[in-house]
Amino acid sequence: MNIHKLFTDEEKELENYKMLRISIQEMYDYACEKTKESKLPHQKYKNIDINLKQEVINTITKSSTKKEIKAMLNQLLEYLDNNNIDSYATNIKTLKCRKMRMSLSNVHGIYDEKRNIIKYTTTASLSHEMLHMASHKDSYLNGFKRKHLFTGLNEGYTEVLNRRIFFDEDYNTNAYSKNVILCLLLEQLFDERKQMEDAYFHNDTNYIYNTFCQYGSKEEFYYLNKYLDFFIFTHSDNNELKSTANILNNIILRTNNNKKIEKSNKIIKKYIK
Ligand SMILES: [Zn+2]
Repeated sequence: MNIHKLFTDEEKELENYKMLRISIQEMYDYACEKTKESKLPHQKYKNIDINLKQEVINTITKSSTKKEIKAMLNQLLEYLDNNNIDSYATNIKTLKCRKMRMSLSNVHGIYDEKRNIIKYTTTASLSHEMLHMASHKDSYLNGFKRKHLFTGLNEGYTEVLNRRIFFDEDYNTNAYSKNVILCLLLEQLFDERKQMEDAYFHNDTNYIYNTFCQYGSKEEFYYLNKYLDFFIFTHSDNNELKSTANILNNIILRTNNNKKIEKSNKIIKKYIK
């Protein structure tokens, strides 16, 4: 059986993998190993079109969207540097935003990738979905998500950015809270948080994997993603969160970097009761 051939076929569904008895761990391994890149994002992502930002501003200005939504789209654009707006510039051209009257089975927002429509109930869900829009490359890649893989990592980090860009890092949006804590810890492995942000807008999960593996093992990376996925679909008590956070904390200890260790301890103290 040729896993490589399977994985490059973007249309294959998770069920097909299961039928072929390839474990999720193998899929994660393969997804990470597929393209090894050692360069840092800010060295890699050099495609600065200085006119692009102005183009996006013009599109937002001309659109028939509500004033409040335009203001939020501009706020996001302002935060992003030119390197990170390729997907945003493409998707904004046809984006539609619709307010839903109520949440559907506790889902407060949806980004319909195929039709490029954001459906939302609250301001926090609207801005969260805007980040999915701005990091949506194609039917396979969205933020850190690769089809069915890295969903938990993607939701967690999307919500980290949602709080950071639109609210306040301490503001509790009550969305993906466990994933947010783990993503904040994971971010400590990077020298600057901007490196992880750049990777998000370039759908570069390999960069996350390679950075993680400087201090952690492949098995630990799989374990982390298994729980990140688990937390978005399942209600669980805090014990599983604590043990996953501890594993991450131990990996951060291996950096021997006092600043990172201190920050990580602070996050654990603050968020994990
Ligand atoms: Zn989401």
